[in-house]
Amino acid sequence: MDSGQKATTADPQQSVTALPSETDVVIVGGGIIGVSTALFLAEKGLRVCVCEKGRVAAEQSSRNWGWTRQMGRDPAEMPLAIESLAIWRQLKQRFGIEVGYRETGITYLCRNAREEEKAHGWAEIGKAHNLPQRTLGAREIAAFLPGAAADFTFALHTSSDGRAEPSIAAPAIADAAAERGAIIATGCAARGIETTGGRISVVVTEKGPIRCMAVVVAGGAWSRLFLGNLGIAFPQLKVLSAAARIDDVPGMPNMPVGGGDFAFRRRLDGGFTVAPRNVNIAPIVPDSFRFLPEFLPTYLRTWRELRLRIGRQFFTELAMPRRWALDQPSPFERFRVLDPVPPKPLNQKALAALSRAFPAFANARITQSWAGMIDVTPDEIPVIDAVDGWPGLYLASGFSGHGFGIGPGAGMLMLQLVTGDTPCVDPSPFRFSRFASRSTPCR
Ligand SMILES: Cc1cc2nc3c(=O)[nH]c(=O)nc-3n(C[C@H](O)[C@H](O)[C@H](O)COP(=O)(O)OP(=O)(O)OC[C@H]3O[C@@H](n4cnc5c(N)ncnc54)[C@H](O)[C@@H]3O)c2cc1C
Repeated sequence: MDSGQKATTADPQQSVTALPSETDVVIVGGGIIGVSTALFLAEKGLRVCVCEKGRVAAEQSSRNWGWTRQMGRDPAEMPLAIESLAIWRQLKQRFGIEVGYRETGITYLCRNAREEEKAHGWAEIGKAHNLPQRTLGAREIAAFLPGAAADFTFALHTSSDGRAEPSIAAPAIADAAAERGAIIATGCAARGIETTGGRISVVVTEKGPIRCMAVVVAGGAWSRLFLGNLGIAFPQLKVLSAAARIDDVPGMPNMPVGGGDFAFRRRLDGGFTVAPRNVNIAPIVPDSFRFLPEFLPTYLRTWRELRLRIGRQFFTELAMPRRWALDQPSPFERFRVLDPVPPKPLNQKALAALSRAFPAFANARITQSWAGMIDVTPDEIPVIDAVDGWPGLYLASGFSGHGFGIGPGAGMLMLQLVTGDTPCVDPSPFRFSRFASRSTPCR
């Protein structure tokens, strides 16, 4: 929870001066998931209010790499990833907004047998879903990606993957939702919810109560805390991921490219976003112990990519209230924007790895560094579901580092769950009940 240097470039949006006293759906959280859900609900004619404690997309949704990909997705997530890319392609035409989406394709480069094995596994999954993909050997890589170092032995390219611009995408989607009548209330923390007759009836915000039929919790890294105050145990932890902006280097690829230790994407506003791949910092916090049984298998599977750290965040979270009364300020008002200090050595390592892979980057400078807290579930698949035993309460969270690309698809699926329409994909991989429930039912 350190307040590091300013990392996000999300457009500041003006908060509404007066909240509605009543609406159909309140959305808690103005990241890509919350605003996409709001857009589709508003398009359908429902009354929507998004409560965002800080600014739209100030947390993960503006800090990510901007990759919109199907390649490498878990088979359970693949249909939603495909659906979501179909929506990304239409956003400009359908809603008249610029989100920076470009269907450039994405390429993964491999240097050793372990990386190749992983890419072959992805290729199998892609084939099963008819993705337009191709594999390349060393000689083909040289022709396909001029400037790449000569030591890459294998590559997987998916031409229907691409990129979008994190700093503008969610704010543009929020604007489109507002144009269709949604209320986007920034600087407005949702403290909690009240029920009447066994169903959701009110969201209590720091600016007053809002009566509603349904609540969608899309609070990113904060969803666990929000639900915990209701006695609902959502197994969610956070990992810190770093990224940096570097100078423009002419002639380098337009498509995002990743290798074993680097990832980069050309930015619409000049230069590149570069990041270390397969390195995340996992802060040890009190929830690490509470959810140890759920997360231990994930940790054992991914330990190579995780750096466990114990530090100030342990004590910050230990001191954070887990239950609070709704007429008192909540933790969400104390932490308007989760802005962790970027681990600069990791970004320097990423730039060094990139320069090894594409020597033309050798003289590039880091001009901005930031970090974001990625919210993860034990199986690294989000929950997009109604919360059992809580009529009117929905959860769309735990996107485990994939939520930017699948955000618009998740918003569409959430619309369909709330309205009872036929879902665009089978929602069962995203059900909440796959995690053994230790929750209190609605009273
Ligand atoms: C460095 C990094 C790189 C990544 N790269 C990619 C990538 O290339 N591709 C990809 O698909 N994904 C990527 N991701 C993951 C992606 O950014 C996230 O999965 C996605 O943005 C999650 O969106 P969200 O709306 O759930 O959460 P967030 O964007 O975190 O938004 C949640 C919002 O809820 C608000 N909130 C929480 N509680 C409350 C409350 N009680 N009241 C009011 N507001 C509240 C918060 O302030 C926050 O703004 C990356 C993430 C990081 C950090």
